[in-house]
Amino acid sequence: MRRFLRRLFRWTTTALVVLLGILTINAIRFHSRQIAVSPLPDVPLAEGAFDRLSEAVQIPTVSRRSGIDSSAFQRLDSFLMSAFPLAQRELERTRLAGYSLLYRWPGRNNKLNPILLLAHLDVVPVETSSAAQWTHPPFSGLLADDHVWGRGTLDDKMSALGMLEAVEMLLRDGYYPERTVYLAFGHDEELDGTGAQSIAAHLQGRGEQIEYILDEGLLVLENALPGLDPPVALVGIAEKGYASLKLTLELQEGGHSMMPPERSAIGDLSEALLRLQEQPFPGALEGVLDQFFDYIGPEMGLFSRIAIANRWLTAPLLVRRFSDDPATNALVRTTAAPTMIDAGVADNVLPVSAEATVNLRIRPGETVESAVAYVKQIIDDDRIRVEVIRSGAVSDPSPVTSTETFGFRVVEKTIRERFPTAIVAPSLVIGRTDSRHYEALQAPTYRFTPIQVQRADLSRFHGLDERISLENYRRLIRFYHQLIKNSCK
Ligand SMILES: [Zn+2]
Repeated sequence: MRRFLRRLFRWTTTALVVLLGILTINAIRFHSRQIAVSPLPDVPLAEGAFDRLSEAVQIPTVSRRSGIDSSAFQRLDSFLMSAFPLAQRELERTRLAGYSLLYRWPGRNNKLNPILLLAHLDVVPVETSSAAQWTHPPFSGLLADDHVWGRGTLDDKMSALGMLEAVEMLLRDGYYPERTVYLAFGHDEELDGTGAQSIAAHLQGRGEQIEYILDEGLLVLENALPGLDPPVALVGIAEKGYASLKLTLELQEGGHSMMPPERSAIGDLSEALLRLQEQPFPGALEGVLDQFFDYIGPEMGLFSRIAIANRWLTAPLLVRRFSDDPATNALVRTTAAPTMIDAGVADNVLPVSAEATVNLRIRPGETVESAVAYVKQIIDDDRIRVEVIRSGAVSDPSPVTSTETFGFRVVEKTIRERFPTAIVAPSLVIGRTDSRHYEALQAPTYRFTPIQVQRADLSRFHGLDERISLENYRRLIRFYHQLIKNSCK
């Protein structure tokens, strides 16, 4: 017996030593993916750049379901024509679907494929009830405390204006691009993106082979993850799918609430929603997330590096860590959020039916169809009808773009040049962008907004006190300026 125990002990020790060896070797072989670049001097911006952004913010190009204010879009259109005279003179400009704009800056070498930079001109509304809570009025475009304030300073007027600033600077310097540069600005990204759809169809009609597409999306985030010191420039290589489901439960009879039956429509539907809450979609580190870890892992402290380098062993642990925070949870799984519930007409009448809306954000690797099947399986109640709301937005997750492309290398290089302290990592966009309307062009598509923010700033998107620091606006302009040049090398 004693000999057996001794042998068992020896075996266990050996196994542990071997395991530790493997873990360490994997961590040591986990090399940084960050490319080395030489720092660039800051190019001087054109006079009045902040005022031009301010002026654009003051024009309330709001996207509302009830319709858009055409006069505001008309004014923005005229403003862009007069504010960027060189771009107006040298670039071909086409208006599509009403107020969307496509600029074409012809390249000198027509053997090179064009690049396509996307932004949008519309902004989300400000609820009347919240307008008073803003530090400065949402359409003031006020320059105060080293910031430009107002709707569109983060999402996404500043991108459109910043791109035009960059083009204007290049033109002023007598620069002409080797390859054609397209700037495409949708006017209803916050609604259905009909502008983007028209632009995509127009480009397809021209038979354009696009080298790469860059749209808004992720950004440079400070304190992105515990254990990771440098800011991370997250480049979206895919975006989640979207669908809303209607869950309907209809019973044979309602009845009087003074002698209610054991079960009710409201109670049973609630039970189904509770099951969905308690059994979320399975999480996984695959595809986009796998690449994300390959890029950030080597930049982390020793302990995290060992864990991330050995995901064959630690994946379940990492998924659990990510699941604890709603922001990272959304990266590892499809999410199902109940957003509306509707039943009943009077306080003393039992309703015969109850209805709920559940909003799905579907991760790459799954589809609308597979997500619906999962919801049905979890609810496990044949009486509840589960339908996709087809009248609303529905989209499968985007394809995952490779990082082994000219486009990614250019974006990566430009980020490292313009945000020298940041590391680059591919990641997943959990919201939606206009870029999904360009899928038919089959171009490598990246989603990155060149500004650096803290986690706390993320609530300003579509929220209160949207503002951009002057420093960030300078960075954004210089990024696009350099990106165009790098794309032409
Ligand atoms: Zn946007």
